[in-house]
Parts: sequence; structure tokens; C-alpha cells
Amino acid sequence: MKQFLRNLKMATTLLVLFVAVLLAALFVQQKRSTEELSAAAGENKYTLQQIYSRAGSISSSDGVVLAHSDEGERKYAENSELARACLHLVGDYTHRLTNSVESVYMQELLGSSRSFLEQLKLDLSGCGFEGNDLTLTVNSNLMLKAGKLLKNYRGSIVLLNYETGDLLALANSPTVYPQDVINWENITDGSLFNRALYGRYLPGSTIKMITTAALLEAPDLDIDMKVKCLGSKEIVPAGARETLTPEGHGTVGLQEAFRKSCNAFFGKLAIALGRERFNEKAENFGFNQDLVLGNFKIAQSRLDLQEPGQGALSWAGVGQPIGQDKVTVSPMHLAAIAGAIANDGVMMKPNVLLQETDPLGAVKYSREAEEYYSCCRSDTAAELEELMLDVVNSGTGKRARRDGLKIAGKTGTAEMTNDDGKIEVNSLFAGYLISDSHPLAVAVVLEGENRDAATVAADMLQYAASIAIP
Ligand SMILES: [Zn+2]
Repeated sequence: MKQFLRNLKMATTLLVLFVAVLLAALFVQQKRSTEELSAAAGENKYTLQQIYSRAGSISSSDGVVLAHSDEGERKYAENSELARACLHLVGDYTHRLTNSVESVYMQELLGSSRSFLEQLKLDLSGCGFEGNDLTLTVNSNLMLKAGKLLKNYRGSIVLLNYETGDLLALANSPTVYPQDVINWENITDGSLFNRALYGRYLPGSTIKMITTAALLEAPDLDIDMKVKCLGSKEIVPAGARETLTPEGHGTVGLQEAFRKSCNAFFGKLAIALGRERFNEKAENFGFNQDLVLGNFKIAQSRLDLQEPGQGALSWAGVGQPIGQDKVTVSPMHLAAIAGAIANDGVMMKPNVLLQETDPLGAVKYSREAEEYYSCCRSDTAAELEELMLDVVNSGTGKRARRDGLKIAGKTGTAEMTNDDGKIEVNSLFAGYLISDSHPLAVAVVLEGENRDAATVAADMLQYAASIAIP
């Protein structure tokens, strides 16, 4: 009897203790979520500073810390140039850049997405207040290089692994130091804008990759079609003409037209395809779709052909829409398009998060390569590759030629009216490296610059080819 009573007492004590722990854990978790809610609602700097004081770290795939919390303070990459290059991707805890890893992965960084039991386990281990650590797919050396290459320009670079979809580098210029964003000082005009994900640029001649894919897959169209290019003379009333080559290209077929980026040929091609087929192929490549990069929603690329008449259609076909027509692309999407051509016509889902681990080191998420869009047939992709190799070897993309590297690409220049009503020319390049060890796709957009995108893109590829890619 005595023994029984002792056991009962013991069991009761244990039960009371267990309930107490549960209640305490519930209380802590509730308090924590209330704090997070108030932070999400108010998001004032002081509250966010408190909330992020024990947030998890953000590292590059090569193990360089890009953000971490140390003694209650949130700090960014130790190398200040790296911190600057990473600003738009990593962000800062004040959330002044509304879309960055610090904000779109806030739940993971604070550990607020954990289940009750998971949280209880961490609370009992004494690390319940710490957030989860994130490893990004980007490489710190590639981020630094991308930042350096953009130093004298306004624009963006995006570098992807086209076999896995991993984002390897993303940089924008202008940019500022994270500490300046936190202190809200020295913020230069346009420096907080993530052009790579949210820029809506006219694609210019880079759209010719899409119309060419449509031509190669149109059973009724003649792949050997020839067009007589009359230079500055419009191909149809109010239609496309050459802006850079007023003397014209003479009579050209697909290969020569692609290499020289002939507007007359591609204007006529758009008319032959018609709006519906042009639109369908663009949508196969991800236009008019909600595109994501991990938890980031990126700007939708648009192909919206409303303007009646062949003239307008021919302009849309060279990536220079007129009237009511809209054709836009983000640098991120442009890199994914080039990557899809490299990857036999299959666009891989872009990743930015490689791994998430909890404070005890348990892996909570590990990225797996996933197919995203079937853009074109593999034979179409192979033909496009030949045409894009030609562009770099002897066409408009010669500046991207590098000894010992097989680079395929397409150039673009697009005239757009800037905020001050002045005509501004942007330079674009989308391309990739043909390599088993370095399956790299790149897109570069430079604002107010008419030719350097190919050079910058090839410099990026050449550097990336010289370092080990995981
Ligand atoms: Zn031409």
C-alpha cells in the first residue's frame, strides 16, 4: 500500500510537471506569435530589431555569412562590398526593401512556422527562441563579381544553373550598404529597386528567341523563308524597320537574320505567325504567368497584343511594341528563358533557398531540382542553340566571344521613354555556357547603354567558369 501511494504521488507529480511544461510552452508560443503579429502589423524599426535579435543566419552556398544576429544585433556580410552586392537579395531587418530574404523568409528566420511539438523540443533544449538558419543557392564570389561588373552601370545581372534552376548570383546597380538602409541615410535614387526581379523591360531583339521557336514548331510555315530587308523603310505601313542598320540587310533567311538581328525578317515572321501563335509560344516560355523564385513572387513578364494591324504586330515581333501593345520581361525571367534553351527546352524552377536547418542542426528543407515550364521541343532548342552560337561567334553578340568557352546568346537593344520623357536605349543579353561542369545561364540588362550587355554577360560567365560550382 505504501509503495502504491508513493508511486501514485510520483505519477501525479510527473503529470503536474508535464502539464505545467505544456502550459508554459503554450504561453511562450502565444506570446511569441503576438509579438510577431504586432511586428507584421506595425513593422516599426524598434520592434523589428527586437524580433530579429535572435533570428537565424543567412549564408551563401559556399558558407559565407550574409546576415546573422549577434548579441541582439543584426549584422550583414563582413566584407562591405559583398554586403552591398547582396542588398537586394538579402535585404535588411527593417523591411524597407519589401521583398528580400529577410522579409519573404521571415517566418523561417524567426522559427515561427514550427509545429507545437517541434517548438516544445527546442524550448526544452534551451534554444526555442532562436530562429532557423538559411543557406542560399548563391555563391559569395559570384555575387561579389556581379556587383563589381555593374559598378559603372545602372542595371542587373542574373546567373542561374540551368540544370538545377539554382540562382547563383543576382545583383543590381545602383545599390547601397545595408547599414545605410537601416540608418536611412545616403540612399541614392533608385538604389533600393530590385531590377532583376521587378524590372519590366522591353525585351528588344531578345524576343526573337521566342518567335524563332514558334517558327521552328509551326508546321505550315517555311523554315527557309526569305525576307528582303529594306533598312529604314517600314516592312508594312506603320510596321517594323531597322533603327540601327538604315542601309538594310539585303535578302536574308533565318540564320542570317538571327545573327544580324534583322527586324524586317522577324517583323514579317510575327505577321506570318499571327497573334495567337506568338502568344502561345511566349506563354510556353513563361510570359503572362505568375513566376516565383522560392518565396519571392517576381514581376510577371507580359505579352499583351491589343493594338490592331500588321504594323503593330511586326513591332511586337521585334520586342518594340507600339500603341496599346505590351511586351515586358524581367532580367530573372530572361535568364530562365536562356537556361530553358540550354536545357533541351525545359525551364527548371528557379531556387534561392538551398537548405533550412533548425537551431539543433536538423534539416527542415532541402531544395530539389524541379521542372517548371516545357518551353519548346528539344530539337527546337538544339536549332536555337546553333543560331545563338552564331550570334556570339560572328553576329551582334561578338563582344561575348571568349577563347576556350562555348557561349550561345542573343543580344537586344530596346528604346524606351524614361521618366523624364527622354528616349533611352537599354542593352540586353541573354545567353549561356555550353559546359557539363558549369551549366550557366545569364541575363544582363543595362539601362541607358546600347551595347555593353554582351561584354558584361561574358565576363560574368568567364569568371564563373573559373571557379568550382557545387
Ligand atoms: Zn534587316
